[in-house]
Amino acid sequence: MARIVMKFGGTSMAGIERIRGVAARVKREVEAGNRVAVVVSAMAGETDRLVGFCREASPLADPAEYDVVVASGEQVTSGLLAIVLQSMGLRARSWLGWQLPISTSEAHGKARILDVDTKALLTAMESGEVAVIPGFQGLTDANRVTTLGRGGSDTSAVAVAAALKADRCDIYTDVEGVFTTDPRIVPRARKLGKITYEEMLELASVGAKVLQTRSVELAMKEKVRVQVLSSFSDEPGTMVVDEDEVVEQELIAGVAYDRNEAKVTIGAVPDRPGIVAAIFGPLADANINVDMIVQNIANEQATDVTFTVPRTELARARTVLEANAEAIGYAKLVTDDSVVKISVVGVGMRSHAGVAVTMFRALADRGINVLAITTSEIKISVLIAEEYLELAVRVLHTAYGLDAAA
Ligand code: ADP
Ligand code: ASP
Ligand code: MG
Repeated sequence: MARIVMKFGGTSMAGIERIRGVAARVKREVEAGNRVAVVVSAMAGETDRLVGFCREASPLADPAEYDVVVASGEQVTSGLLAIVLQSMGLRARSWLGWQLPISTSEAHGKARILDVDTKALLTAMESGEVAVIPGFQGLTDANRVTTLGRGGSDTSAVAVAAALKADRCDIYTDVEGVFTTDPRIVPRARKLGKITYEEMLELASVGAKVLQTRSVELAMKEKVRVQVLSSFSDEPGTMVVDEDEVVEQELIAGVAYDRNEAKVTIGAVPDRPGIVAAIFGPLADANINVDMIVQNIANEQATDVTFTVPRTELARARTVLEANAEAIGYAKLVTDDSVVKISVVGVGMRSHAGVAVTMFRALADRGINVLAITTSEIKISVLIAEEYLELAVRVLHTAYGLDAAA
């Protein structure tokens, strides 16, 4: 008898008709003889709505109370799914984050799961009851409700699967699996039968929101068998696997984009030792992540430093830099939030030269200017003007031979 975790995202839970569809899938797994825990998201759009209320109430909402508000969307869907399962003749109950509990760090709004208590859960599941668990939420040692960051229900599902030593963790979403790029931008994107943990981790971290980055990190560490598949079809999905399970490795696994980037240029700063520390120290102290960095060649003892911060943090970054203007000694500060980061990811890059050149040429041929570049062993990212997002993703998808046959 297999133990499985099924996770359903916001689109799959949007309204009672869809929840009935989800319940039918759960029923199928129960009737096949499996012990099932289901992790659910809030209805599509609900978390945005709740975040909006908090912002309206106060732009500086207390993060602990923000979590109380935004965690509620998942409470609703978990109860509704349990009701629908019961109405279909199954035994089911909801287990809220605080009831299990799912213990987390105290970082409200982006808490990390520390432990999932499975005692009560296992007893219920072994008796044949379906356990319905709201994703995205947890509890601190001080008994405060937390949330795990946007898209966090994926991480809840993987954490529950790891704690239950589940045989499978199936992530049901609104596309049929992991594609070579976002299928909503490139209709000729191809579904991948398998993708390595490492590539999925890198893709998620550069913007492919089909899985939350932390869920992949956790799956990799705990060796959870994750499959991404559609709530709306019976097509096979994508398995996330170890590298040795992939027989024929493509050079590039996929192309991703991230709109949550903003560019900051500090002009005419003195070119002396310690200057980058003077810029990035205060940003780090304010907990603002700096991503791409370019320092221009100095002329007449002054230099320009360009870097990116999350778009959502741009206003704060500006305030921090202005407060430190004297210590840094810059002449001007220019910010631009109409930029995006485009990345190509593939483990094949380790053994092949010329991958970056293909990218730069393809973009140059379309007149797309590259504003900043960063690389890792299996990834190349460029910063470009936002207006070229779709064009850039499409041309790179074609340049690396990823397009599906017409
Ligand atoms: P859920 O609500 O089920 O968690 P999300 O909206 O978080 O769904 O994630 C699914 C979405 O991820 C898809 O609708 C798709 O637009 C987007 N996406 C981005 N990159 C990819 C990719 N490489 N493969 C599949 N989907 C992707
Ligand atoms: N409902 C949360 C969000 O929209 C968590 C999730 O769906 O994964 O971010
Ligand atoms: Mg999601």
